[in-house]
Amino acid sequence: MNRRHLLQLLIAGIALPSPLYASAKERITNIRAWHDQEKMRLVLDLSGPLPYRTFELDSPKRLILDLDNALLNASLDDLQLDGSVITSIRTGIQAQGTRMVLDLAGTVEATSFILPPGDGRGHRLVVDLIAKSAMPPLNAPPAQVKDVRQRDIVVVIDAGHGGKDPGAVGAKGEKEKVVALAIARQLAQKINNQKGFKAQLVRNTDMFIPLRKRVEIARKHNADMFISIHADAAPRKSASGASVFALSENGATSTTASWMAKRENSADLIGARDVLSLKDKDPVLAGVILDMSLTSTIATSLDIGKTILGNLGKVAGIHQKRVEQAGFAVLKSPDIPSILVETGFISNANDCRQLTDPRHQKRVAESILTGIKSHFFSNPL
Ligand SMILES: [Zn+2]
Repeated sequence: MNRRHLLQLLIAGIALPSPLYASAKERITNIRAWHDQEKMRLVLDLSGPLPYRTFELDSPKRLILDLDNALLNASLDDLQLDGSVITSIRTGIQAQGTRMVLDLAGTVEATSFILPPGDGRGHRLVVDLIAKSAMPPLNAPPAQVKDVRQRDIVVVIDAGHGGKDPGAVGAKGEKEKVVALAIARQLAQKINNQKGFKAQLVRNTDMFIPLRKRVEIARKHNADMFISIHADAAPRKSASGASVFALSENGATSTTASWMAKRENSADLIGARDVLSLKDKDPVLAGVILDMSLTSTIATSLDIGKTILGNLGKVAGIHQKRVEQAGFAVLKSPDIPSILVETGFISNANDCRQLTDPRHQKRVAESILTGIKSHFFSNPL
């Protein structure tokens, strides 16, 4: 810690405690950190859940963490910050609670969330920082884009099921694998007609491809985005409409989502760790880095999913108004935003009639394209 920081810390620390601070309800009981050169995870153990805010400030770069109604009851002395994206941490008293200032070595992408009690620990505030230089191109600052990015935005389209795996089957034998391929082909054609975009189909014929392989194909093509097309069945024949899914790290957002994921995963099993080459890294660190990468990728996936769902709603009924999350194996690329679109229920008579109609397939593909375009236009690569 340099002298200036020490001084600021002293000024902050010696200030007379405000009545609010004295009556703070929650305690920050411990602070832990893991890092490599580009990524850092800070975990604050809390006595209970509390409101907090983060914001970034420039010159010098720093991330401010305001924890309302909380008293710092932990030492920062043992935190290993050397070689991390954080150069120092300062703390101060605010009327509201505790303020932590993380001085940064450069620009970072920060995400944070409160973890509920689990794994023998109580409430935790998790702050993930990834150095901008370590981010995938998707998150590169626009100023660099012109120099760095000279290739098209690659969308890998996965038509669900295929070959020996027909997927769901409709009342008159309509097969999900056929519907999925038809819509996937339409979408690929429409994407390839767009300047600056390029589509790659995972399968262009009626063939079986294991889920693990589908993820590998996306990686091989350097996908900027992965979209898996389906048309599932439900036990309830009245269930209808399209849904969009993203990966969940901790369980499904609804029973339907969990049920769908189980069905879609049944073709085979895959672990996200299989597709990352972190063998040379410490296993704990590898896990942490994987989690961090997933957290940021899932946020992007949810964003794309929301835009696509909004556009799908203009041409088809919607089953769930929000993007659902579950443990879909095919969405487990840690660094490629991935979504799964259930275009409708093949088990529903009305949906099935539409899904097998080439005009409707075209409309669905068009609406997905509009969603993809509007996402990448507002989040340029
Ligand atoms: Zn399916």
